[in-house]
Amino acid sequence: MPGTPVFKSPTILAGLNAKTIKGDKREEYATAIMYLAPAKMAGGANLCAMAREAGCDPTHDNGGCLVNSGQAQVFSSINRARISKTQRYLANRAEFMAELVRDVQRFIKWCAKHGVKPAVRLNGTSDIQWEVAHPCDKDGERFTSIMEAFPEVQFYDYTKVYKRVYRQLPSNYQLVLSYSGANQRYADAVIGAAKDTGANVAVVFRSKGLRDSIVGLSEHLEGQERFMNRAVIDGDQTDLRFLDPQGVIVGLYAKGRAAKADTSGFVVD
Ligand code: SF4
Repeated sequence: MPGTPVFKSPTILAGLNAKTIKGDKREEYATAIMYLAPAKMAGGANLCAMAREAGCDPTHDNGGCLVNSGQAQVFSSINRARISKTQRYLANRAEFMAELVRDVQRFIKWCAKHGVKPAVRLNGTSDIQWEVAHPCDKDGERFTSIMEAFPEVQFYDYTKVYKRVYRQLPSNYQLVLSYSGANQRYADAVIGAAKDTGANVAVVFRSKGLRDSIVGLSEHLEGQERFMNRAVIDGDQTDLRFLDPQGVIVGLYAKGRAAKADTSGFVVD
């Protein structure tokens, strides 16, 4: 996108995602996103603990994972770069966290230069539980998580690992549950977690028309007549999920070849 300021670093990127740019303009935030290779795409450990159950594992079900959308579906070099970055993460987590700390520090300076507030989404195409077992060092001090190391940054992610929303998360880390109807047990667990904790749930509808009509209907319906008993908002107005009201369904629609063709239950008809 010519003329758009872009932040590039070895771990996180900002300004390349059209949806994020729209969010940037609207709310004066810039979101830096990290794109890794999801599930077991890079070999070794599984970065998406619930992907099989949710039916979105691109190495297994070819489900609606974003890793196969947008530019990545055209340029396999993009996915090769993500695999290599993920292998660095898997080979030496402490070194990778040190690299990430340096990049977040640079991103904060970049945001200050452009007069925007920094937001970071670490799971652009992964579902790592950053709040546990990911300590890091900054300026000679040890922190239990990257979120704790950077209280001035707003972190947020979508997640299919529903147990995460039951945790006491850092106050600058917002998680949105990601729905899939691929299997009833998973769908019930996500709805249960949303009820128990008040967490928002992102639902991907088959088309923009369907999403818009459900958003419109939700404004006129109440209680159990509404989709999953909740108000549905247009989640494409901005990607800045931490600005959404609490207790809603974040309505998205299928984009990219893989999501549009999804029959796993991840995309709702
Ligand atoms: S959990 Fe998210 S990133 Fe992981 S495979 Fe599923 S859709 Fe892709």
